[in-house]
Amino acid sequence: MAHVKLTDTTLRDAHQSLIATRMRTRDMLPIAEKMDDVGFFSLEVWGGATFDSSIRYLNEDPWDRLRALKKIITKTPLQMLLRGQNLVGYRHYSDDLVVKFVEHAAESGIDIFRIFDAVNDIRNMEVSVRTAKLAGAHVQGTVCYTISPVHPIPLYVKMAKELEEMGCDSLCIKDMAGLISPQNAKDLVSALKDEISIPIDLHSHCTSGMAPMSYLYACEAGIDILDTAFSPFAWGTSQPPTETTVAALRGTPFDTGLDLILLTEIKKYFEDMKEKYRGILDPISERIDTNVLKYQIPGGMLSNLVSQLKEQNALDRYEEVLAEMPRVREELGYPPLVTPTSQIVGTQAVLNVLMGERYKVVPREVKDYVKGLYGRTPAPVSREIVLKILGNEKPITCRPADLLPPELEKATKEAQSLGIVKKPEDILTYALYPAIAPKFLRGETREETLEVPKPTNGKTASPLSTEFRVEVDGDIFNVKILSAGGTMSVRPAEQERPKITDGAISANIQGMVLKIKVKKSDPVKKGDVVMVIEAMKMENNIHAPHGGNVKDIFVKEGSTVSAGDVLMVIS
Ligand code: MN
Repeated sequence: MAHVKLTDTTLRDAHQSLIATRMRTRDMLPIAEKMDDVGFFSLEVWGGATFDSSIRYLNEDPWDRLRALKKIITKTPLQMLLRGQNLVGYRHYSDDLVVKFVEHAAESGIDIFRIFDAVNDIRNMEVSVRTAKLAGAHVQGTVCYTISPVHPIPLYVKMAKELEEMGCDSLCIKDMAGLISPQNAKDLVSALKDEISIPIDLHSHCTSGMAPMSYLYACEAGIDILDTAFSPFAWGTSQPPTETTVAALRGTPFDTGLDLILLTEIKKYFEDMKEKYRGILDPISERIDTNVLKYQIPGGMLSNLVSQLKEQNALDRYEEVLAEMPRVREELGYPPLVTPTSQIVGTQAVLNVLMGERYKVVPREVKDYVKGLYGRTPAPVSREIVLKILGNEKPITCRPADLLPPELEKATKEAQSLGIVKKPEDILTYALYPAIAPKFLRGETREETLEVPKPTNGKTASPLSTEFRVEVDGDIFNVKILSAGGTMSVRPAEQERPKITDGAISANIQGMVLKIKVKKSDPVKKGDVVMVIEAMKMENNIHAPHGGNVKDIFVKEGSTVSAGDVLMVIS
C-alpha cells in the first residue's frame, strides 16, 4: 500500500459545483502560493465550465487566469478538465481546432490534461490525447461513471485498458454525480487494478453523501489519487473536504502525509472568501440529496439547473424537471450525465416540462445528439424519439469529427474581420464561443454583480435572476434588469402582459437572440425558422406560426428577451 495522493479541485470543480463557476481570479491568486506548498498531486484550476463562465459572466480572460496561476504555482502540476473533442465548449470542434487549443493550453501552463468524453466514446478523445502527449503533458484518460442497465463493470475495464494502450499516464474514474457507493468503488477499483498498471484517481461528489465513505473503500482497493476540495467549498454537490480526508487517512496505510496546520490556514482563507459568494450559493447545492441516485444529476449541473430555472422564473417546477430527467435519459440511450450530455438531457427535460408537451421544442444540440454527432450512445436512442426528431434522416456511425471540415482558418478570418484579435489566442476564444466572444473581446462584457438583493415575501432573489420582486410602499414590483446598455423596466407584478397582436411571435423562453434570419418585409412560410434564441446554452429555433410577410422586428441580435416578449410580427 502506498500513500494516497490528493488532487485539490477548489479552484475548478468545487466552485463550478457550488457557486455556478463564479470564483474570480483575484480571489484565487492570494492563496495560490500556499496551495502550492501543500504537496498535492495536482491542482485542478482550469477547463470545465471555467472558460465559458469567465468570458460570459466575469469579464475575465481565461488564458490570463491560467498564466497568472502558473506564475505563482511553480511546484505543483496544474490540471485541467478537457471535454475531449468538445474542449471547453458544448459541441464537437474540428480536429485542427482541438490540436491548436490543446497545444496552447499546454504552452500556457497546463501540465495534466484530464480528458473525457460524455458518452465514453473513445474516438472522441483520440486527437486531444495524442496532442497532449506530443506536447509532453501528463494525460489522465477518463471513464465517466454512471449507473444504468447498460453500464456493467467490465465495460469500464475494457475502456480503461484502451486508454492505457493509447498512452494515458493515469486513469480517472469520473463520478460526476456522486453516484458511486463504497461497495461499487471497491469493486470497480479492484477490477481496474487487476487489469491496468497506470495510477488510478477517483473523482466523486458528495451530492448523495456517500463520497467520503466511497473514498475510504477505494483506498482499500488500492486507489492512488483522490479528488478533494477545501472544506468551505466542499460537501454538497462538490468534492469531499481536503482537510477531513487528510485527517481521516492519518496513521493508516493510505496516509497522505500532508500538513494539517497548513491546510487549516488555507481553509480559513476560503472560509472568508466564501462569504462574498454567499448570495449565489444555493441551499439546494449544499444539501445532501439521495434523490440524485434516482436522477443522476452531476454537481455542476444541479447548481446550473437551479439558476436556469430561476432565469426562466420557474424554480417552482424544479421537482417536475427532476422527475422528467431520467425519462429523457432513458429515451436518449442512457448517456452518463456530464457536460454536454447533462445539458442535452437537462435542457430537454426543462423544455418538456415548461412547454407542456414533450419534445415540442427540441434544441439543435439534442437533434445533433440523436443524429450521432456526439458519438456512439451507450444504448440506442428510443426509436420513437429518433423518428420524432429526425424523421427519415439516418443517424451517422463514424467518428463524428471525421465529418467536420477544418474550422481554424475560417474562424481566424471571421475574428480578424470583426477586429477583435489583439493576441493570437483571441482566435481560439472566438472559435470556441463565436456568440459571446466578440462582446467579451471588445471589452463590452460587464462583470456580473455580486450584490444580493434582500429576499421579499419569502421569494429568494439572486444575482443570477434577471427579474426581481421589489417592494415599494407596500406594492410588489417585478424589476426586470436587461443586459448592459439595455434599460430597466418596472411593471406592477399582477398586471397582465401587453396584449399580443395578431401575427405576433413571442419568445417561449428567456434567453439571448442569437440570429435573426429574416428582414422586415421578407416573405415567410409557416414553420420557417425566423430567429434563433440561445437559452440555457442551447440554440432554440423560433418558427413562423403561419405564412405572411415580416411586418416588424422588435429585437436585435444580442438582445436579451424574456418568455412572452414579442419578437416580431408577421402580417
Ligand atoms: Mn466533477
